[in-house]
Amino acid sequence: MSQALFTKERHIRYFLRCLKTFLPDLYTSNDSNRMLLAFFTVAGLDLLGVLESKTTREERQGYVEWIYHCQVPSGGFRGFTGTDFGVERRTQDNEAWDPANVPSTFFALVILLILGDDLSRVKRADCLRWLSKMQRTNGSFGEVLGPDDTVEGGGDLRFCCFAAGTRYLLRGRYSTGVEGIRDIDVDKLVTFIESCQAYEGGMAEGPYCEAHSGHTYCAISALTFLDRLSRDSDRVPLISPDSKQYESLVRWLVARQTTELGEEEDEEDFDEDGQVNGAAQDLTQSVEGLNLDGSIGKLPDLTPPSEESLRWAGFNGRCNKYADTCYSFWNGATLDLLGKISLVGAAGNRRYLLEKTQHLVGGFGKDAGEPPDLLHSYFAMVSLALQGEEGLDSVDPAICASYRTVQHLHTLPWWQDAR
Ligand SMILES: [Zn+2]
Repeated sequence: MSQALFTKERHIRYFLRCLKTFLPDLYTSNDSNRMLLAFFTVAGLDLLGVLESKTTREERQGYVEWIYHCQVPSGGFRGFTGTDFGVERRTQDNEAWDPANVPSTFFALVILLILGDDLSRVKRADCLRWLSKMQRTNGSFGEVLGPDDTVEGGGDLRFCCFAAGTRYLLRGRYSTGVEGIRDIDVDKLVTFIESCQAYEGGMAEGPYCEAHSGHTYCAISALTFLDRLSRDSDRVPLISPDSKQYESLVRWLVARQTTELGEEEDEEDFDEDGQVNGAAQDLTQSVEGLNLDGSIGKLPDLTPPSEESLRWAGFNGRCNKYADTCYSFWNGATLDLLGKISLVGAAGNRRYLLEKTQHLVGGFGKDAGEPPDLLHSYFAMVSLALQGEEGLDSVDPAICASYRTVQHLHTLPWWQDAR
């Protein structure tokens, strides 16, 4: 049986195409998420170990300048330059229309670190001051600050994750240079996160909602960022092995691995008008003379899973869903954060990614037969990197970038003990 291959050279070409030529028009509606697209592109080439060899020093400096251009004067980063109406025209009355954005701020900082920047031009104090204003009274975080400092945007775990991550990157272990700046309310944030654990064990977007792997990753990543900076030894039960919460969370995550890949959906036969061809149409016409016994005899046999069909095992994000490339990351990285990556069926996950969603032109699609996109391409590579795939650098599952990036972060002054 042939060995599944990680087609590294094609992935390098895919990410370089995304970096240096125009993205396909399907990305147009994501114009305001450019910082995220930039993150996937730069982090992808970094994970492939070719960022320095395949771009020039001038190009990398250009990327750094673009990111600093996205920094708003009052702290934090915007997601793209479309809202920037210039420093001269910016006033306290209109600045809410060109706001810093919580996820974009985290991604901007991580890209700067990947590019080797020392964050010396980041308005750390302003950014941390702004960040604490982004927290709601229930402990959750919003996305942007609206007029009169109203907290706008979703109140789910994504923003909690990026807020905790930004605090981690900028406050560091010693808070050097930002000692007097008001911190976020960590206890309230933890209480909010804990309230999002669903009865199933996974984490939901809010209390009493359905567990979802994306939100689960965000919750555990946020708690990891807080835990890494915490001085007290008491860990939150969700990330403490042997607690009830931890056990049910791990069980739910492991149960997300599935051999249901959704491929049979493609086999359904539609004609150009969207009508189902063949048997189903005949069935409608002959419904009056329906012979139940005869019809039952015509039903296809449902074959139980074979040894062959169990070879490919991706992950889903909720119960009763098909596998999707990105969930190999959301679930796998969360299990890694919990110290349980060994519970992933690594061979099945690898075969699913490399034989079903890895694309001929490089990159990875959402599922089998889909064209590649930046999000699924990067997350597939991180999932493989967490399993030690040859040709990919090792990854920090919380920062979601190479360990090299974290090592660089830890050389910055606020991570050094100055005493
Ligand atoms: Zn996906």
